[in-house]
Formats: sequence, C-alpha cells, structure tokens
Amino acid sequence: MKRLSIIVPQALEVSEFFYILIEGPSAMIYSVGIVGAGTMGTGIARVAALSKFNVALYDINETVIHNGIARIAAGMKKSVERQQLSQEEMSDALSRIHPRTKLSDLSHCDVIIEAVLEDLRIKKDLFRHLDADVKAETLLATNTSSLSVTAIASGVKRSERVVGLHFFNPVHLMKLVEVVQGAQTSDETMQRAIEFGEKLGKTCVRVKDTPGFIANRVARPFYGEALRILGEGIASVEEIDRIVKGEGGFSMGPFELMDLIGIDVNLAVTQSVYEQFFNDPRYRPHPIQRQMVDAGKLGKKSGKGFYNY
Ligand code: NAD
Repeated sequence: MKRLSIIVPQALEVSEFFYILIEGPSAMIYSVGIVGAGTMGTGIARVAALSKFNVALYDINETVIHNGIARIAAGMKKSVERQQLSQEEMSDALSRIHPRTKLSDLSHCDVIIEAVLEDLRIKKDLFRHLDADVKAETLLATNTSSLSVTAIASGVKRSERVVGLHFFNPVHLMKLVEVVQGAQTSDETMQRAIEFGEKLGKTCVRVKDTPGFIANRVARPFYGEALRILGEGIASVEEIDRIVKGEGGFSMGPFELMDLIGIDVNLAVTQSVYEQFFNDPRYRPHPIQRQMVDAGKLGKKSGKGFYNY
C-alpha cells in the first residue's frame, strides 16, 4: 500500500497547515499581529486569541507588553469566575499570545492591526515600516477612531491592502466593527477584512473614510454637550450621567464613557475630528479635557478621571 505523505511548508505549524487545507484560501488569516498593547490592542488580542488565532503582540518595550498580557489574563480570569469561559479555554488562548519586542517579528503575520496613539504622524510612519517588513498579501489594518485611512496609507507602496478595522471598547463585549474603505483600499481587502472580523464574532459594517466615521461622529455632541453643561455649572458629572442613563436609557453616561475610553484618547479623537472638519465649532474640544490630560487624570487606566477608581 502506498503511503500518503504531505509536506507541510516550513513556516507553518501542522495545525495551521490543515486549517488552511480545510477552510480554503479565504481563511488564510491565521496569524494576527497587533501593534500597541494598550486598551484596544490588548482587547483585540484577547478576542483574536479566544477565536483561535495566533497573536503576536508588539509595543515600544517589554514592560508595556507584559503589563498588557497581565491585563488580558486578569480580564479572562473574571470571565472564568463568571463561568463565561472555561479554565482550559483561558489557558489555551493565553498560550496563543506571544510578546514581540521587534516590529520585524510581525513579518510572518497575515493581518496586522495597529492600535497605537491617535496621531497621524506616528501611524503613517508605522505603516510605512510595516509595508516594507511584511508579506505582500498581509492585510494592514488601523484601529483609528477618527483619522483618515487614506492619509494613514499615503506613504505605503501597496496601499490597496490598508483598511480601517475600528473595534469598540471593551472589545470582548462590543459587537460592532466599522470596516473603513480608504480611497485606495481594494474591494478584495475589504472582503478579507470583513471575513476576518466575522471570524472574531463581530458584526462588520462597511463605512466611508470620513472624519470619525459613523459612531464617533454621532458621539461627538454626546461628549461635547455634556462637557459644556458641566463647564457652565449647570449640573454635576454624577447628575448628568444619572439623567442620561435614567431618562435616555443609555447603559453608560458620557463621563463614565470618557473615563473608560481614556480622557487622552477622547481628546485626541475630538481634536482630530475638529481639525478634519476645518475647525467646525460643532466639534471643538472643551478646555476641561485638556486640563484633565495635563493633570494626568486619564480615566480608568490612570485610576482617576471624572470618577476615582
Ligand atoms: P492606549 O493609550 O491605551 O494604548 C496605546 C499603546 O500604543 C500604548 O501601549 C503605547 O505604548 C503604544 N504605542 C505608542 N506609540 C507606539 C509605536 N510607535 N509603536 C508601538 N506602540 C506604540 O490607547 P488605546 O485606547 O488602546 O487607543 C489606541 C488606538 O485605538 C487609537 O487610535 C484610538 O483612537 C483607537 N480606539 C480607542 C478606543 C478607546 O475606547 N480607547 C476605541 C476605539 C478605537
């Protein structure tokens, strides 16, 4: 009897090879690189690892990455205590997350999701480096909340593979992902990005490349008016949050939400939408935001924001 022998390409683990064999070429994404191990990067890493993807997690230094992985583990532990996850699923997912201290260590990844600061210059620079480092077919995704995907891709040679994958916070709970088509993003890239998002269990919505996309544009007056009401001394943080939740039926008030997002991140997004709309006063940031950032009151992540944690 003839023996059947299969040669597994060197770079692939056997399980990965069979995954491709069974799922077909559309499932070619099995290795995910994440740049930025902050709130969003770790949230995406957690969901990707639980969806059985191998994750390479990169940030500017080892301490930040290890702190990020520790936060992922703590979050998963809570899910185990609430019996939403088994201990085995948690261990399995954590073993799939690999800390990486060099950007070039992500070169084997099939998709790279950038979740660094909301700063166009930093993101553009990063994408230029990634473009040179990674495989030609790797999807390059940005988790930007507001910046132009077209502008982020402007220094990238193969810019048709750059796409926006805008996850929401907290990533493991929020179903929506805005998939942003920049001026240069190909339809094939959009399709692959949507398929990937769906594999993470998300609901993907195609959106145009416009400042703040849909959710963050709609949300600007939510934060902006709440800050103005506070600034004019009309009501307190607690009162505004209570009224919005009690009467409006929102699950979080604007100040609770700003604390969760990060006051610095929220200010950067507001500033970015404001500037991209040529300083339209509707989107103008509030001095309270700037003062809080200057005082290091960044919300939940720093232990102090509109509330104490
Ligand atoms: P964060 O401040 O929690 O984390 C940012 C991380 O990026 C930090 O760990 C920092 O060390 C790292 N970093 C900075 N420059 C880097 C570089 N050049 N290379 C590698 N790592 C670098 O921020 P976040 O809240 O996770 O936001 C990240 C992105 O996601 C932003 O674009 C933001 O607008 C977007 N976003 C945020 C939220 C939210 O609610 N916080 C929601 C959706 C999208």
